[in-house]
Amino acid sequence: MKHKVVIVGGGAGGLELATRLGKTLGRRKQAEITLVDANLTHIWKPLLHEVAAGSLDPSIDELNYFAQAKWNHFSFQHGRMVDLDRDRKNVMFKSSNAEVREIQYDTLVMAVGSQCNDFGTIGVQEFCHFLDSRVQAEKLHKLFLSRYMRAHATDKSTPLRISIVGAGATGVELCAELQHAIRIIEGYGLRQASPSTLKITLVEAGPRVLPVLNQDVSETVHSGLTDLGIDVRVSTAVKEVTAEGVRLADGSIVSADLTIWAAGIKAPSFLKELAGLETNRINQFLVRRTLQTTLDESIFAIGDCASCPLSDEGCGFVPPRAQAAHQQAEMLSRSLSRLIAGRSPLKFNYEDRGTLVSMASFNAVGTLTGLLGFRKVTEGLFARTLYMSLYRLHQASLYGAPRMLLKVFAELLQRRTRPRLKLH
Ligand SMILES: Cc1cc2nc3c(=O)[nH]c(=O)nc-3n(C[C@H](O)[C@H](O)[C@H](O)COP(=O)(O)OP(=O)(O)OC[C@H]3O[C@@H](n4cnc5c(N)ncnc54)[C@H](O)[C@@H]3O)c2cc1C
Repeated sequence: MKHKVVIVGGGAGGLELATRLGKTLGRRKQAEITLVDANLTHIWKPLLHEVAAGSLDPSIDELNYFAQAKWNHFSFQHGRMVDLDRDRKNVMFKSSNAEVREIQYDTLVMAVGSQCNDFGTIGVQEFCHFLDSRVQAEKLHKLFLSRYMRAHATDKSTPLRISIVGAGATGVELCAELQHAIRIIEGYGLRQASPSTLKITLVEAGPRVLPVLNQDVSETVHSGLTDLGIDVRVSTAVKEVTAEGVRLADGSIVSADLTIWAAGIKAPSFLKELAGLETNRINQFLVRRTLQTTLDESIFAIGDCASCPLSDEGCGFVPPRAQAAHQQAEMLSRSLSRLIAGRSPLKFNYEDRGTLVSMASFNAVGTLTGLLGFRKVTEGLFARTLYMSLYRLHQASLYGAPRMLLKVFAELLQRRTRPRLKLH
């Protein structure tokens, strides 16, 4: 009997892992690799702010799981995981016709990612929009366009008001991308250029934007956002979200036509103590440095849904980032090959290669660590090129370098025949 590896979640970590294992163990028929995902196609999550603004058309950039499975010697099951039976080693998932099906595993890898954390704030689920999935990003794009058109058609002096809560990378990148989108929209003659056509307020409870990055990056980004006309409010806690906008802790209201919640993350709630496994207060599985869950060595977790210690001494945890999911997928593909061959698993060492934040085509800012042997703030064309190369690296890991280059070339050709922004 072939060893059965089931990976749940085909995102930044899970899809790369399935592809790597398919190309090695699957191709050599040493194991059966199955990927389960709730969607039929994959879009790299760090691109979702571009989908929301319309600068990226997901129907062009998406990757089809069935095709990827066929090309890389693994199989794909479409469905949403709902439960786990550890005694029978079965994963239960709901297929598209709502039927609950089961799939058996010898090794299970959980890679279901994360979603926004509303921290129990009143009104968030009812009145806010989110950027956790392609569906949400596309919905936001349609709303953004239609509200903008409506504001334009009804009263030229009233700007479209957008509040974004949370000045982490998602909130900051979304602000810049929306501001960039408006400039392109105006270029198509939809509205006369005027600084008052869009009013974005970025609200952050902490004392500075990008609180997890260093002070210099925060300051550069803060002034960049202000130059773009964004009203940045730090040390400003949100008490409640209503249909009118965001009510702050001091009782004042930031009025908004659209409120987007981008503050903090948590793993999906169905993981909370799933089948008796240990989880933390934001539903992440507790894993050892081998990425095995603390109570079950045949179950692994990677990416945003895993809480993995940075070292054996226990000083901090691997951050929820695409680069961490990628590094874990790469390491786990080697480790699982060893385990299946009867050898001991490897330990994960996170290498922080720095963080870059995109400010649309205006700029990119961040720190580089390790690369070229220095750790400093970088911005401008160099940072922007590096930022864009992160996605190309993700594509290369899925398609191989030659096909990634072909895709880049195809995109360059397509740019000549399509509008720069998705306008519908
Ligand atoms: C707008 C935005 C910008 C970002 N920018 C950056 C950045 O610049 N740099 C960076 O390092 N990180 C960035 N991130 C964070 C990064 O996207 C995540 O850390 C990364 O995607 C996590 O990878 P993952 O594999 O854990 O999960 P994901 O990539 O989120 O994939 C999870 C997968 O699991 C599937 N799934 C979920 N639940 C189920 C279920 N019950 N059953 C079956 N399938 C399921 C989903 O459909 C999805 O395909 C950004 C995030 C956002 C939202």
